[in-house]
Amino acid sequence: MRIDVLTLFPEMFPGVLGASIIKRAIEKGVLSVSVHNIREYSDNKQRQADDYPFGGGAGMVMMAQPVLDCLAAVEAEGGSARRVYLSPRGRTLSSAVAHELAKEERLILLAGHYEGVDERVLSRFEHLSIGDYVLTGGELPAMVLIDCVARLLPGALGNEDSAVYESFSNGLLEHPHYTRPAEFRGEAVPEILLSGHHANIEAWRRERSLELTQRLRPELLEGAELSKKDRAFLAGLEDSRS
Ligand code: SAH
Repeated sequence: MRIDVLTLFPEMFPGVLGASIIKRAIEKGVLSVSVHNIREYSDNKQRQADDYPFGGGAGMVMMAQPVLDCLAAVEAEGGSARRVYLSPRGRTLSSAVAHELAKEERLILLAGHYEGVDERVLSRFEHLSIGDYVLTGGELPAMVLIDCVARLLPGALGNEDSAVYESFSNGLLEHPHYTRPAEFRGEAVPEILLSGHHANIEAWRRERSLELTQRLRPELLEGAELSKKDRAFLAGLEDSRS
């Protein structure tokens, strides 16, 4: 997948792109990310990219010309792409949206800053939010989107299974994890995980996953795919509480 980011603050990206799983995905060629400085596309001698809002009020607004010329230049390299503006107004990013985006060959992400971007630019983009709070810029949301999409790309994670079984991918929260030592400061790992009995371990994990979801995010159960056995287990949990 190719991702182009349009931003006024390209210096925010190398840390996130240069570490851990994203770094490896880029090295493996599963993902390529180019970060473009909108300011460099400004017609203005001072490379101005933002200006005061018409009608008055606090803050600055990113100007249409540098953003659209940056977009045109980026699209001229390699054709059309799905365009996303990171915005508190947008559809909320979720596991389902991330899976949908992971199927694309190319994404162009626009990060706003200050009060946002001249409205005349925005109809050209779909809008995605990372949650109901306001950040100083779209750079962190763009990195959040890149991170959660990158880990879904085939070959990005070391172990393919880890993206399949984790929280949300089957509509449930994931089961808990333990690693060595088997006993730590008096707390032992659940015995069954040491048994080597895969079917029992799988059943135990499924039950913990159901239990956690019911306790912490019960609304997720409505959309989850549940077997007869799952339902019986959940009903048992409810009985034992009442
Ligand atoms: N005045 C705007 C907020 C601007 S915040 C408003 O009230 O809606 C500056 C930039 O940060 C935005 O242009 C957007 O790109 C980004 N941003 C802020 N919060 C965000 C969120 N929750 N999700 C995605 N992007 C966000």
